[in-house]
Amino acid sequence: MNSITVSEVGPRDGLQSIDSLMPTAAKLEWIALEHRAGVREIEVGSFVSPKLLPQMADTAEVVRGAVELPGLTVAVLVPNQRGCEAAIAAGAHKISLPLSVSETHSLKNLRRDHGAMLDEIRACQALVDAEPAERRPHFEVGLSTAFGCSIEGPVAPEQVFGLAARVLDLGVAEIGLSDTTGMGNPAQLETLVTGIWRRMGDGVLTGVHLHNTRGQGLANVLKAVELGITTIDSSLGGLGGCPFAPGASGNIVTEDLVFLLESMGYSTGIDLEVLLQVRHAVADLLPGESWYGFAAEAGLPRGWRPAAASVA
Ligand code: ZN
Repeated sequence: MNSITVSEVGPRDGLQSIDSLMPTAAKLEWIALEHRAGVREIEVGSFVSPKLLPQMADTAEVVRGAVELPGLTVAVLVPNQRGCEAAIAAGAHKISLPLSVSETHSLKNLRRDHGAMLDEIRACQALVDAEPAERRPHFEVGLSTAFGCSIEGPVAPEQVFGLAARVLDLGVAEIGLSDTTGMGNPAQLETLVTGIWRRMGDGVLTGVHLHNTRGQGLANVLKAVELGITTIDSSLGGLGGCPFAPGASGNIVTEDLVFLLESMGYSTGIDLEVLLQVRHAVADLLPGESWYGFAAEAGLPRGWRPAAASVA
């Protein structure tokens, strides 16, 4: 049976796009509840300036709490070397640094061109390499705006391949692809994934971060898992609604993703019935926020069986 890692990004991607400030204890409760439902990878926060994102000011504390949960991969986002230092100090297992394929987007968001970002990445890789093997976190660079940029428009696959090669040349073990703007489609995803695998090897790309801004999220997921991608990012209740389209979800909804995968026989290790209860519990912790998702609205169909039960 094929298994897929569902990487929950709600406590980072979701919380940083809403106004509510979630107390540290509530974040840790959310993380523990998803862990209990079987989620084994959670992006718990990001090490950015608390002035920029006050929602993420307690990330070190959240990491230190989350690493106590057995079998959980605790992932964080960092924008630069300073963030990477803090992530290593806190004990994060997985560190992702976003690098925008669109240089205009990079300059606008981080005020850094590709050269400056690659310097940060080189410094982060050196920090990671300096850690003893048993404590060394997994470091990856997420190529954002890989499917298109809200400022530049279309992004050519050659741009993605070129930047991916420059990142890997720095000794980075893995890159990811992010559809930051929700412009991607399955054919494009196939071009990008197979293009990177053919040029740089299968092992360098195993995960994708897709958005549902234009309703293509699960179609893109289906193409990704059929190609052999093994980690898919998503957010509980689709938290982190897209600011450009009120009422539409930005992130893929974890509950719907688990329903799709388990129904098709891909094992996620997640108990969907428990996860649907977790959704309600977390919604209570975040009053006033919008929650998305069809599986939760409609409920599980009569006689529905998860992947593991179908094989047994
Ligand atoms: Zn996202």
